[in-house]
Amino acid sequence: MYRVTIRFYEELNDFLPPERRKRDFEFEFSGRRSIKDLIESLGVPHVEIDLILVNGESVGFDRIVADGDRISVYPVFETLDIGNVTRLRPDPLRDPRFVLDVHLRKLARHLRLLGFDVDWLPDRDDDALAEIAERDGRILLSRDRQLMMRKIVARGLYVRNTDPEKQVEEVLDRLHLRDACRPFTRCVECNGLMEPLDTDASGFDAAAAIPPGVLAWCREYYRCAECGRVYWKGSHYDKLKKRVEGMLNGG
Ligand SMILES: [Zn+2]
Repeated sequence: MYRVTIRFYEELNDFLPPERRKRDFEFEFSGRRSIKDLIESLGVPHVEIDLILVNGESVGFDRIVADGDRISVYPVFETLDIGNVTRLRPDPLRDPRFVLDVHLRKLARHLRLLGFDVDWLPDRDDDALAEIAERDGRILLSRDRQLMMRKIVARGLYVRNTDPEKQVEEVLDRLHLRDACRPFTRCVECNGLMEPLDTDASGFDAAAAIPPGVLAWCREYYRCAECGRVYWKGSHYDKLKKRVEGMLNGG
């Protein structure tokens, strides 16, 4: 038997039962185990972890746990000064490109509205999601903890909230992304980039793409470079603009 003392910090406690939160607790197990296996067996996905100290020294996920170890586990953080230790993540979650679980459709649209590169399709299974995250170096967002524990998923965030508007806040706050928002630069339907559209250009059938009531007054149009959808700043835009301002101002 091995007996260790372990403590999780900050939002990693969300994954623990109340009696194990924000305190040292003892844990017993048998057999040789890596620290990654031990931590995930307690319900905390490795993608959320940035630093592990064992007896005061930073270690990697593959460190084999020894009897009597004191283990401290810290989340991905950008602001806290943790001094001269080796983080598990040489490459922090600063490159905000995402792949989203099929269940997070509304979050996908909100993040695209804010200009983030979001890969989302309605029919992907867990294998496909994990592969895309690895292959494209995208941050996987999901509410499926098991998916987050897959070995090939190196960058990910378990989304705590269930309400889509709160989910956006959560992602922006936890990854410090408010300054990276570029609202109205991306197509919410397909993730393509928007480009200004010249409705007088030859070959463009404005009457077919834009309702006559809009053509009569609107002079400024954008088109998605991928799917060709045409956007303009109509009454819907005002509503979206308010929503974007709400998200950026924190509610
Ligand atoms: Zn599009």
